[in-house]
Amino acid sequence: MIEIKNLHKSYKMGSNSLHVLKGIDFSVKEGELVAIMGSSGSGKSTLLNILGMLDEADSGDYHLDKVEIRNLNETKAANYRNKFLGFVFQSFNLINYKTAMENVALPLYYQKVGRKERQRKALKYLEQVGLKEWAGHLPSELSGGQKQRVAIARAMAAEPKVLLADEPTGALDSKTSYEVMDLIQQINDQGNTILVVTHEPDIAHMCKRIVHLRDGVIEKDEKVEQVRASAYV
Ligand code: ADP
Ligand code: MG
Repeated sequence: MIEIKNLHKSYKMGSNSLHVLKGIDFSVKEGELVAIMGSSGSGKSTLLNILGMLDEADSGDYHLDKVEIRNLNETKAANYRNKFLGFVFQSFNLINYKTAMENVALPLYYQKVGRKERQRKALKYLEQVGLKEWAGHLPSELSGGQKQRVAIARAMAAEPKVLLADEPTGALDSKTSYEVMDLIQQINDQGNTILVVTHEPDIAHMCKRIVHLRDGVIEKDEKVEQVRASAYV
C-alpha cells in the first residue's frame, strides 16, 4: 500500500538547514496497524505529513497504492489525498460551529456525494464510533474522547485506503486513550490500513508493528504481540 525509499527532508532555517529525515525506507501492506514511535522532535509528524501528502520530501521515492506520488501535479495530488487518505490529529480539528454529523459529512461533500447519502453515511459512521445519539451536538458539548471519535468517524466516512493518525491520544487521559485505541483496533480488524504516530510505548504496543524513529532514521522495525485496548477500557 505504502512504499518509501531513501526519503530525505530538511527544513530551511535562515542560512541553516535542519536535516530531519535522513534516508527512510519502509513499506506498509494493506491491513497493517503500524505505530511510528520516537521521542519528541524525532521527525514523526514530518514523516506522517509526507505520507499524507501534506508536505513533500526533498528526495526519495514514495509509492502509494502503486502510484508515484512525487510525480503528481497539485490538482491530482489533492484529489488523490481526498480519495485515499484519512487524517486524525491530536487536537481533533473539528469545526466548532458544525454538529458532529455535519463534521463527519464534510469530506463527503468534497467528494461530491449527494445530501441524503452524506447524511446516511455520516450517521452510519457516527454509529460505528458509538455516537449516533450525539449527531446533533456541537464539538463544545462533547468530551475529548468523544471529539476524537467524531474525528475518526469523519476520517472513515470518506472510506480512505490509509488512515493516518498523529498522536491521536496525545490530548486524552489514559482511560480515554485506551477507548480511542480500542476503536482504532476495531477499524483495523475490519481490514483498514492504519498508521499511528505516538511517543507513548503503551499506545505503540496496541499496534501490530512498531517502527522506531531516531536521529532521522529507522532504528528498529519490529512486529509486536498486539495488546488489546479493550482489556483496559
Ligand atoms: P515529532 O513529530 O517527532 O515531534 P517533527 O516532525 O514535528 O517531530 O519535527 C522534527 C524536527 O523538525 C523538530 O526539530 C522540529 O522543530 C523541526 N520542524 C518541524 N516542522 C518544522 C518546520 N515547518 N520548519 C522548521 N522546522 C520544523
Ligand atoms: Mg509530532
